[in-house]
This record gives sequence, C-alpha cells and structure tokens, in this order.
Amino acid sequence: MAQLIDGKKHAQKIINAVAHYTEVMVKKTNHPPSLNVILVGDNSASKIYIKGKKTKAEACGFDIAVHEFAHDISQAKLIEFITALNENQQVNAILVQLPLPPTLDSQKICQAIDKAKDVDGFNHSNTGQLWYNGSNSYRHDSTLLPCTPLAIMQLIHDIHGADLSRLNAVIVGRSNIVGKPVAGLLLSANATVTLAHSKTHELAKICRNADILIAAVGCPNLIGETYIKPGATVIDVGINKNSNNELLGDVDFNAGLKLANFITPVPGGVGPMTIALLMYNTLKASCVQVGYPIPDLLKTT
Ligand code: NDP
Repeated sequence: MAQLIDGKKHAQKIINAVAHYTEVMVKKTNHPPSLNVILVGDNSASKIYIKGKKTKAEACGFDIAVHEFAHDISQAKLIEFITALNENQQVNAILVQLPLPPTLDSQKICQAIDKAKDVDGFNHSNTGQLWYNGSNSYRHDSTLLPCTPLAIMQLIHDIHGADLSRLNAVIVGRSNIVGKPVAGLLLSANATVTLAHSKTHELAKICRNADILIAAVGCPNLIGETYIKPGATVIDVGINKNSNNELLGDVDFNAGLKLANFITPVPGGVGPMTIALLMYNTLKASCVQVGYPIPDLLKTT
C-alpha cells in the first residue's frame, strides 16, 4: 500500500523556515516583505484561496494587501494599477488571482507585473529562465518560478533526491502554469520526461511507464488502475469537485493507494505546498529587492 505524501507537513516546514528567515531579515532591514494580491470580481473559490494565502502570509510575518476590483474593471485600468504597484518600492510581490473575468486578457495582465515582483512566476522572463538555465541555479539567482511546479519538485526531491537520472517522469497536462514548467524542472533534475495531453494516444500505456507520474488535468479520476506502474510516485495536482461538493483529484485514489509507493492526497497534497512556495517566492523577491541574501530554504542538491 502506498505511503501518503503529507503536503501539509512539508508545507508547514517551509512556512516555519520562511517565517524564521523573515524575522532575521526584518531585524536587519526593517522592511517586512509586502505581498499584494489583486482580485477581480466575485469568484467564491478565489476568495477562499486568497484567505488561505493571507493566513500564511501573516504567519510568515509579511504585510499582505488584497486589492479588490469589480468584475467590469477595464483592462487599461487594471494594468495602470499594476504599473503603480510595480513602481512602489514598498511593494515586493504582486499576484493576480486567476481566473479573471473573460473580458480581461489574463496573459497581458500577468505580463504587466514586473518580473522581480512576479511571485506566481508567470512573467515570460521568469519562465524563459526556467528553460534556459537548465540547472538548479534558480535556488541561488533572482528567477521566480511558478509555485505549483516548484511545490511538486520539492515533494519529488524529498522522495527521490535531487538527481532523477534513470527515472521516467510522465506529466499529464501541458498548461503554462503546471505541466510545461514542471517538465522543464524535471528535465533539469535529469529525469527522462514525457509531457502528455488531451491529444496523446495510448495515455494509459505511456503513464504505466512512469516512475514519477504527475496528473495536472482537471478531470476527476482520469488516472485509473491501468495507468499506474506498481511502485510509482504519484503526484495528483488536480482539484475537482464531485456532486457532493467534495474535493477530488485527477487520480483514482484507491487505485493509487493500491499500486503506487507514494501518493499525494487531494486535498492535503500539492495544494498546501503551492501556498508555502508562494511564501518562499515572496520572501525571495523581497530579499533580492532589498539586497539581502536569497534564502536557501528549498531541498538541497
Ligand atoms: P488547464 O485546463 O490549463 O490544462 C489542463 C491540461 O490537461 C491540458 O494540457 C489538457 O490538454 C489536458 N487534458 C485535458 N483532458 C485530458 C485528457 N482526457 N487526457 C489527457 N490530458 C487532458 O489546467 P491547469 O494546468 O491550470 O490545472 C490542472 C488541474 O490542476 C486543475 O484541476 C486545477 O484546478 C489544478 N491545479 C491545482 C493547483 C494546486 O495548487 N493544487 C494549482 C494549479 C492547478 P490540451 O492541452 O490538449 O487541452
């Protein structure tokens, strides 16, 4: 039977380390990291996510501001607001809570965030560095990486170590925020990587070859018994709801428990880790901006 990967426990360790480093840094610089979250419209799920981020930011000793706008704010006005945050030296970290209303161009709005304050890691400069660097240098340079891929890598490194040579990693889902960046990070860690998607043929067969299987699809229970190699590490990124409003992942959890060696639960796996890595990114962005050493808090090589 698979061992559960306790995302909450791993996340708490990162939060504690971020809080400790922040305390020391603030004593020297007198500048608590300032995280600014932009919420547009009335999406109830977004409000819940922001509440979780606020609690953790406060636990880390950050200043956090949530800027709320009506759903009909114009693209120009929102970009103007982001530009003002970019120019404000008191602000270290900016994120736009997605999804945005369909009238707004999420790509353009996320690209308006200064790359040094882009704690979601979606700026093209940051994503470009992810592929270009080809190593673990992001731990020591100013590049900000997307939080969920970084979270996934932390869980994988904890089980398999830093060097993933000889391991086949299959990612199902090729989105810009999860699938593609996690593929880049796995490649940097020497895994042999397959990136699958909705047009992939023989998905089950491909997944069955995975020593590390990552599901980031948004399709409940897509990954069933015939998709899982016995002994695999299964990372379930999916967040779905069933008719009883319960959260479900993309992986058939019972099949995963039966076949895998390690599996993340949903909830309590990748989700809390993603928030913890957002706190890490906020601290890192602040350190770079105030000229304080970048914290080396992630799994070491
Ligand atoms: P997207 O909708 O952007 O991407 C989904 C991907 O899954 C696409 O690449 C799509 O393929 C692929 N896909 C869809 N159906 C199938 C199928 N039947 N077989 C194979 N591939 C398929 O989703 P996100 O990456 O944004 O999110 C994925 C899931 O992860 C969601 O449930 C989301 O809620 C969750 N999530 C969780 C986070 C966390 O912190 N735990 C953070 C971010 C996301 P194609 O490209 O061909 O369309």
